[in-house]
Amino acid sequence: MAARLTDDDRAALTGALRGEIRFDEPMARHTTLRLGGPVDAYVEPADIADAQALARLCSARGIVWRPLGAGSNLLVRDGGLRGVGVSTRALRGLRREGDSGVVVVEAGVSTGKLLSAATGWELGGVEFLGGVPGSVGGGIWMNAGTYLGEFKDVLTEVASVTPAGELRRRAHAECGFAYRHSDLPPDELIVEGTLQLRPRPRADIDAEVRSLRDRRRAREPHGVANAGSIFKNPPGDFAGRLIEAAGLKGLSIGGCQVSPAHANWLVNTGDGSAAELLELIARVHDEVQARFGVDLQLEVKVVGDG
Ligand SMILES: Cc1cc2nc3c(=O)[nH]c(=O)nc-3n(C[C@H](O)[C@H](O)[C@H](O)COP(=O)(O)OP(=O)(O)OC[C@H]3O[C@@H](n4cnc5c(N)ncnc54)[C@H](O)[C@@H]3O)c2cc1C
Repeated sequence: MAARLTDDDRAALTGALRGEIRFDEPMARHTTLRLGGPVDAYVEPADIADAQALARLCSARGIVWRPLGAGSNLLVRDGGLRGVGVSTRALRGLRREGDSGVVVVEAGVSTGKLLSAATGWELGGVEFLGGVPGSVGGGIWMNAGTYLGEFKDVLTEVASVTPAGELRRRAHAECGFAYRHSDLPPDELIVEGTLQLRPRPRADIDAEVRSLRDRRRAREPHGVANAGSIFKNPPGDFAGRLIEAAGLKGLSIGGCQVSPAHANWLVNTGDGSAAELLELIARVHDEVQARFGVDLQLEVKVVGDG
């Protein structure tokens, strides 16, 4: 377990950064599941240089730092996170290179903003983001996507800040993308992605995104805190189908529930805790394994102290 920040660490962080910093910040405020304990320091570097300075400071003082996106795929345990949680919220750059299909986007831009900018430029390739929440940085790290595609289909380069404070650029082939996965090191902060998009009429983009959104709206739960799919789909099957077939739809533990609308969405109905959700996850995993011999793997990232 990592050590808590000392008063000296807190003073050094406050003095070194241009961006925002909040101590003992509840992670429930920064995750779509609306649960999880506090992070010792929640930091929003003002720009990439600020993120590099933060990395160097953390490395010099032996402080753990953890990249945070928009918290739409994050389950923080009730004991919270030690060290520094680095948010990319302030990294909002988004530009098109001349008249080309090359788009350079910073990690804190929301996936929705990227999609709407590409649509406005009449550039296709990111239609798959319709209805997928989160930041571009989190989307790249997770290789987020839908049946229309995923980040790996459009990325040509990824830039990240290493724990030593260096800016590292990786070509697509060096990122190790797979289904909802990249090999990008979990302790590097992705700060920018370069995408290759292609000309496409706005009406065609709009029509495809509308149909994706309609399809999602009809199948997905509404009005409850969630992180989308909790488990990855096993090869050739769907986690939701298996969970439903195991008779687990609607199962509740405390304030957490297997959504009656979509069995792969395990939701917080209001006052759920991370401990309850983790218990529910374990129960679902074990029942599916016992019934069908399938070892479901988590898509949601579980972090923090118990
Ligand atoms: C309603 C709903 C629907 C969803 N539908 C889909 C879907 O259709 N397809 C899909 O793929 N996902 C879906 N998700 C899950 C989620 O939207 C994606 O995984 C998203 O890409 C996570 O991005 P984020 O910015 O919220 O990352 P976070 O949840 O903040 O972080 C996720 C992981 O990425 C890491 N990370 C985040 N930012 C960075 C960074 N800048 N550098 C390095 N590492 C980073 C974090 O450390 C963490 O391990 C859904 C979630 C919700 C709530």
